[in-house]
Amino acid sequence: MKKKLTAVIYWLVIAGVVGLSFGAGFLYRVWNDSAVAFRQARGNLLVAGLRGSEPVSATRIYDCYGNQLATAFVENRYPVTLDQVSPWVIRGFIATEDRNFYSHGGVDLQGISRSMVHNLRTGDRHGGSTITQQLSRGLFLVQDQTFQRKLQEAFIAMEIERQFSKDEIMEMYLNQIYFGSGAYGIEAAARTYFGGISAAELTLSQSAMLVRMVKNPSGFNPLQNPDRCLTQRNLALYMMADYGVITEQQKQETSELPLGVDVHRYELEQDWDYFTEYVRQYLVGRYGWSAVYEQGLEVYTTLDPFMQESARLAIDSILTLKEPVWDSLTGTWLEDPERLGYESSWARWQAVEDTTSGAPDYIQGALVAIDPTTGYIKAMVGGRDFQDSEFNRAVQSRRQPGSSFKPFFYAEAIEQGWSPGSVILDQPVVIDLNPGSWRPRNYDHEFHGMVTLREALARSFNVSAVRVGNAVGIETGAARATAMGISSRLPIVHSLPLGSCMANPLEMARAYIPFATGGLARNSTAILKVEDRYGNLLESNEQPDPGRRVLSVTGAYLMNSMLQSILREGTATGAHWYWGGPFAGREAGGKTGTTSDYADAWFVGFTPDLVASVWVGYDNHVIRMRLQNGRGQSGSSIALPIWNGFMRRVFADADPSTAPEFPGPVPGEVEEVVICRVTGQLANAACAEHARSELFWTGTAPTVTCELHTDSTGFEADTTLGEFTDFDRTFGQGGV
Ligand SMILES: [Zn+2]
Repeated sequence: MKKKLTAVIYWLVIAGVVGLSFGAGFLYRVWNDSAVAFRQARGNLLVAGLRGSEPVSATRIYDCYGNQLATAFVENRYPVTLDQVSPWVIRGFIATEDRNFYSHGGVDLQGISRSMVHNLRTGDRHGGSTITQQLSRGLFLVQDQTFQRKLQEAFIAMEIERQFSKDEIMEMYLNQIYFGSGAYGIEAAARTYFGGISAAELTLSQSAMLVRMVKNPSGFNPLQNPDRCLTQRNLALYMMADYGVITEQQKQETSELPLGVDVHRYELEQDWDYFTEYVRQYLVGRYGWSAVYEQGLEVYTTLDPFMQESARLAIDSILTLKEPVWDSLTGTWLEDPERLGYESSWARWQAVEDTTSGAPDYIQGALVAIDPTTGYIKAMVGGRDFQDSEFNRAVQSRRQPGSSFKPFFYAEAIEQGWSPGSVILDQPVVIDLNPGSWRPRNYDHEFHGMVTLREALARSFNVSAVRVGNAVGIETGAARATAMGISSRLPIVHSLPLGSCMANPLEMARAYIPFATGGLARNSTAILKVEDRYGNLLESNEQPDPGRRVLSVTGAYLMNSMLQSILREGTATGAHWYWGGPFAGREAGGKTGTTSDYADAWFVGFTPDLVASVWVGYDNHVIRMRLQNGRGQSGSSIALPIWNGFMRRVFADADPSTAPEFPGPVPGEVEEVVICRVTGQLANAACAEHARSELFWTGTAPTVTCELHTDSTGFEADTTLGEFTDFDRTFGQGGV
């Protein structure tokens, strides 16, 4: 028995010695690490804007005229000295965070034991960290909660106490802590939450609120959680009274005050919008976080501020007109048949809210404008309100482009030798899908017999587009779209010519560049040049992308002609009364897009010097754009008006004499003949109103005169396109 006990003691002693030496080694290592970390961090402490006025260098972003758009720097921080801070703040922090601040040596053993007792009693997890420890945590260390980390914090806190006075420590602390809403330090917090006042002006109530906010900057935020924020403010007042820095009466009176928060957006993200955020993300991705936020870059962008403002106004004015109006007096939606249905926009939203938590429920729009001659992004609006939703629909969204995708397949057909006057059969087609089959339908649920390529595209016949896709090959058409500028991966499916893929407004605008440039594709960029803070050039696009040929000169000319027809006679004829003519002497072309059930509406259009794409829809794909009178909203009814409003404003003061020749001189390979649009054969007098002038690749124009309209008395019966169901012959340049 005794022997056994001796053995136990023996082993305990061994374990103790081993444990102690391990413990000592561990402590020594932590101490050593901390000393190294402190030596490194001490420099930061002095230069990082805490003790001096020299902040880390900011990155500045400029528009195309060299005017500053935005500044990116490490934090929204305005260093102040202790005498520039309201005494209520200092008393509040000492009362709530560290009552022995002026007596402890960095670590407060009394405070730790008090908080341990408190934690055991209440189940809370208060740290009991002193203000000096909190300062060391924020300054030097990754914010994890390991035991080793806590020891390091303590060591560094003691080192800080040896090197700085209590006032210096308090000052650094007040300049460093985070108050939420992007506000670092007490001065930024005062400016942000209380209408731009300084830290010296903070009242007792305001100070008490801020003192508690550092505990949980988002949870106790007066914007998101005003009730919790008020409770916490009053808790701070209670603790200050308990500590004796305010009287019981001050506590009572101040507790009854409202928070009085007056948030200054100016101090939040005043100069950021979708474009500058897009640039910032690009810079961080390419140069790294530190280069952008600490070393400072000079970033000259391609943005035209007037176009940006025009884009924002165009989206805002049209969508505001379409939106249902909520009457807060009666608590109901005002009925207006010409506005979007509230069932689809609101009630439906409620039903699916949990799947897209936090996303705005109102109709959204995005616009990207690019100069096709350079690839420069001149305007980019990614939504209706950046403050409300930073999701950039111009580049981050993935939506079906619908019919606005068709031109890529038509371009492929043209390059394969078809002409705008080639006729195609708009008749039911059955696609074998193995398993199953698919019968594409037209928007109007009708079939239109023989139609020219131009008419099929202008009137956006789906069946014709599917036949074109089958004829040219889905894979070749997809490759053409990619070469032209679509960067999203394209599914090789029979419905691809109808735009059953995913794309964003930026790539749609980019992929239309060749239609405006006579066949040259260009990369899009927002960056003119980037310099470091010493003026060294890091990147430059001042010599714009010379472009790469993706369409032949003639092919691009023929496509341009067809896309112009859309604005004159096709799905986009609404353009006429919206715009009333060319923009400052510039003809325009473009294509609408509407996806099934009105989830997405598009218009992508161009003049020789500006390509712009517009998307409209709800963030939630489930919600459809339908007016209260039941009408669905299409590309031509809701996206085209935005495009028109934008273009009209941009070119309002432009000089028509500066308009580039468009689409340029007629290439030698084009011939113009008058055809019968019903048969695609050469027109004769009997074809009457079916005759029209059309463009062909030289040598491919029809040679046979119309065999249908031979009797000048017989054409009347032939005006109904639906009767020509038996046409499957090949006319002129190939029917499908
Ligand atoms: Zn005819």
